[in-house]
Amino acid sequence: MESVEMNALRDACASCVRCPLGQTRTNPVFGVGNPQAEILFVGEGPGEQEDLKGEPFVGKAGILLDKMLACIGMSREDNVYIANIVKCRPPHNRDPLPEERQACLPYLRAQTKLIRPKIIVCLGKVAATTLIDPSFSIMRSHGVWYERKGFWMIATFHPAALLRNEGLKRDAYGDLLKIRAKLDELTAKKEPPEESDGKAEEETEK
Ligand code: SF4
Repeated sequence: MESVEMNALRDACASCVRCPLGQTRTNPVFGVGNPQAEILFVGEGPGEQEDLKGEPFVGKAGILLDKMLACIGMSREDNVYIANIVKCRPPHNRDPLPEERQACLPYLRAQTKLIRPKIIVCLGKVAATTLIDPSFSIMRSHGVWYERKGFWMIATFHPAALLRNEGLKRDAYGDLLKIRAKLDELTAKKEPPEESDGKAEEETEK
């Protein structure tokens, strides 16, 4: 169940016109999943179906994402939270512009602060270049772990790219196995409880 803070954020997003995408959307697409999830998946922005339904990753790409999650024993209802870099659909499915990404990022940052995931997975180039490194190459650096501000971050292919190029699926599957293994590793560290220096906790607050 969503917290009061998350609900307030969702409401703010529903009436947001902080960037021009707010003028052309049908529905904002805030996010879906478990608000206490250990993994946050981040895509680039809503497409046509998402804009109509107000939910991220519906249609063929969404079905594929659900299958990918099932491969590693996860589902969008139980274990993960799914959001986008921008909450409103860019016209004609173009990439969100840098200024649109910057205008919308405070929502994602606030969501991340509330969810407090251990792992953030960037789905595709737009998410990776926005969250990991502006020069990020998805072909070269997918499946590589980065530790940033107390979060483990990794990028893999966007499901829409996998639909266009089936040959990438094998690499994407390898990335998913790394994500599952990292989560298991991080979860195992929690049990039995060990003394913590509180550093990770402090980092997530920054
Ligand atoms: S894309 Fe983000 S910043 Fe732009 S109007 Fe939509 S919610 Fe607001």
